[in-house]
Amino acid sequence: MPFDILINGGGIAGPSLAFWLTRHGHAVTIVEQAPQLRTGGQAVDFRGPALTVLEKMGLLDRVKAAATQMGPLVLVDGQGKEVGRLPAEVISGEVEIHWGDLTRILYEAVCNDVNYRFGVRVTALDDDGDRVNVTFSDGSTGSYDLVIGADGLHSGTRRLVFGSEEQHVTQLGQCFGFFDIENRLWLDHCGMAYIDAGRTAALQAIDPDKPARASLFLSDPEVDFDYRDTEGNKRLFRQRYAGMGWEIPHILEGLAEAPEVYFDSIAQVHLDSYARGRVCLTGDAAWCASPRSGMGTTLALVGCYVLAHEMHTAGEDYAAAFARYQRLLAPYVARCQKTAIDALRTERVSSGRLAPLRNVALRMLRIPGVSKLVARQSLAVARSFSLPS
Ligand SMILES: Cc1cc2nc3c(=O)[nH]c(=O)nc-3n(C[C@H](O)[C@H](O)[C@H](O)COP(=O)(O)OP(=O)(O)OC[C@H]3O[C@@H](n4cnc5c(N)ncnc54)[C@H](O)[C@@H]3O)c2cc1C
Repeated sequence: MPFDILINGGGIAGPSLAFWLTRHGHAVTIVEQAPQLRTGGQAVDFRGPALTVLEKMGLLDRVKAAATQMGPLVLVDGQGKEVGRLPAEVISGEVEIHWGDLTRILYEAVCNDVNYRFGVRVTALDDDGDRVNVTFSDGSTGSYDLVIGADGLHSGTRRLVFGSEEQHVTQLGQCFGFFDIENRLWLDHCGMAYIDAGRTAALQAIDPDKPARASLFLSDPEVDFDYRDTEGNKRLFRQRYAGMGWEIPHILEGLAEAPEVYFDSIAQVHLDSYARGRVCLTGDAAWCASPRSGMGTTLALVGCYVLAHEMHTAGEDYAAAFARYQRLLAPYVARCQKTAIDALRTERVSSGRLAPLRNVALRMLRIPGVSKLVARQSLAVARSFSLPS
């Protein structure tokens, strides 16, 4: 029996899940709080089983056609002098694409089969055992067989059904801002980054005539950071990056003028169960591993494929499907979350007094074969999951 399903969140996981559910005959509504399709963001990449999922969706060629083809990330000191470089194969996964290009490809793949509602949020959820009764921010109401929360790290679905964000979100002591900026250095399929103790600034671009994408990371477990406070966060980054060399003064000017900045903290979500009754979570809402894992998009695509597959296999027994979905995915999620913790620890240890040692290690990546070996190792976790068939 097909279900009437509400998906809350139209980022990456929302349309990915809708793709499969509509093909399995379910009626799907997606609500997205943004007034229209969001673009922007930095690059995201696909690894291991995510490529198989894209292929099954028939989207791999479109994604490859929009791939950034990004080259290396050159690490510089405060004077702009190169101290090392990270080859593309180490930092860009197997296929890299801009976040906004991916949201557009996914949207176009499902928009004709899904009832999309932009500019709306879920404000109340009542699972009465037979249906989930939903109230929306515009005052309208609806009733669904199942509700899936695909509304990201700060999931409203999770807050309404599983409890406050503080109960389930672990902060990892770092926050970041992504924004577009004038490409003053005419970067072309490459990036540059300046890493100082607790602060990392990077510029990346694939076209010398188009804006570059800037990112600023700040490590400070004590910092008072609210991802929603755009002006306060602009001030925070300006203060903390004041007096730094390289391109930082220009990056700070760009930050001050940027109309849109994607600010957030590096955090992870830990839940005992991805589902309660007829409400289930997926993507960052369920297990956010953080951008430092490099696995957010891969996990979202793979997780949605598994959830839809288990729902299809279990038929009406959605509870069995939700349980099996969690059993299959949770160990993989844990491995991806550990990748982020390890990356942050390495960064902490190597960005202070040990920076010269780190630079020696980076120079070794130029030796043929060494970068391939490192890339293979970084893909090992991503590839440690087999899709159910
Ligand atoms: C604007 C934006 C830019 C991003 N840029 C990058 C990037 O450059 N690099 C990177 O690695 N990751 C980025 N991410 C995060 C990345 O997409 C996720 O880590 C990952 O792909 C998992 O996707 P998701 O769909 O679970 O979560 P998200 O991509 O975060 O999507 C969640 C969606 O739900 C919507 N939403 C949130 N709350 C509600 C609500 N209460 N009601 C309705 N809708 C809601 C959000 O607007 C968003 O569209 C970005 C996310 C966003 C929202």
